Parts: sequence; structure tokens; C-alpha cells
Amino acid sequence: MNQTLTLFRLQQTDSRMDAIQSRLEAIRLTLENDRELVRARQQAEATEAGLKSAERGLRAAEAEVESQRIKIEQSENSLYSGKVRNPKELQDLQNEVTSLKRHLATLEDRLLEAMLKHEEAEESHQASLEHLSQVRSQVATQSASLTAENNSLTVENDRLKSERQAIASALDERTLTLYENLRNNHRGRAVAKVSDGACEACGTNLTQAQQQAARSGSQISYCSTCGRILYAS
Ligand SMILES: [Zn+2]
Repeated sequence: MNQTLTLFRLQQTDSRMDAIQSRLEAIRLTLENDRELVRARQQAEATEAGLKSAERGLRAAEAEVESQRIKIEQSENSLYSGKVRNPKELQDLQNEVTSLKRHLATLEDRLLEAMLKHEEAEESHQASLEHLSQVRSQVATQSASLTAENNSLTVENDRLKSERQAIASALDERTLTLYENLRNNHRGRAVAKVSDGACEACGTNLTQAQQQAARSGSQISYCSTCGRILYAS
């Protein structure tokens, strides 16, 4: 195998391993921090708080109506007990009952409002719980498929590691160092293929002589523009 073909294979292996690493990292982030799930959970907590406050409002409104009804009952009892005979007192009692009943109507309106609010709060809490459970099952399904992908990528990565070792063993130390330095300085890509007479990495057109040199593979030739090792099949 000539040297540039070996370097090209090494590059292909490294590029695939780089892609696997970045995909594994993306999977890790997705599994650790699912934004939609966090949002759905916060929403369910918020609607639960809203429901609790609506429940408190409803109980308070019910208590007020109840205590007003008791007051009216007591006043009416006095009014109709026959114990009060003084017309002025009777009139006062009658006025009191009328006034208490008027306020009762207001309290009953408030109770109705509180009941409606409570009903709405219950509906929105129920909806948020359903949404949360939907998101949970989506995440579980997604997690299962991401975990499976994670496992198969890890297996592939292990296989590539030993392939890489075998390929690299055919190169001398100096060439390997040269390759690694180029990779560091060229965003992971040290070797570029010659495609349609041009460097595939930077697009520079190559002369016939440059293409021929790349094709022979006996000596390493470089792209004059980006400096990468050229490989031609
Ligand atoms: Zn180039």
C-alpha cells in the first residue's frame, strides 16, 4: 500500500471517529437534559399551584355564604319568634334581614365566580398533567432509541480504534507526527482527496503535475493553498 493511500485511510477512520464522538456527546446532552420535559413539569407545577389557590378561594367563598345564611336564619328566627313585639324593633329586624339578604346575593355571586375559577383551574391542571405524561412517554421512547444508538456507536468506535492502530502501524513515526500536526491545524482534516482536478478540502484547482504527484503516492505532496496532504486514486 503506498503511503498516501495509507494516510487517506487513516484520515477516513479518524473522521468517522470524530463524527461518532460528536454524536455521542449530542446524545449524552439530550438524555441528560430534556428541555421539553422540564418545561412540561414546570407547567404542571404551576397549574397545581393555581388549582390550590382556586380551592382556597372556593372554600372561603362557601364559608362566607354559609355564615351569611346563618345570620339571616338567626334574624328571621327573632323576627318570627313572637318574642319581639315592639313595632320599631320588628321594623329594625325586618330591615336587617333585607340588608343581610342583599349582601347574601353579592356573596353568592362571588361563590359562583369562585366555582368557575376552580373549574377552569382544574381543567388546566388536568390538561397539563396529560401533557406531562405524553412528554414522559415520548422521552422514554426517545431515550430507548438514543441509548440503542449510543451502544452501537460505541461498538463501532471500538472497532475503528483497532482498525486505526493497524493502519497507523504501517506508517513511520515522522509521517504520523506530520499527519497529527496537520490534523490539529486543519480542523481534523489532514488529507484531502483530489476530485475533478481540485483539492476537495479547499477547492483549489491543481496542475496536471500536482495531480500526477498526488497519484503516484511515492512521495507526500501537499495542496499549495491549504497545505493538506493530497491523495488521488
Ligand atoms: Zn487544499
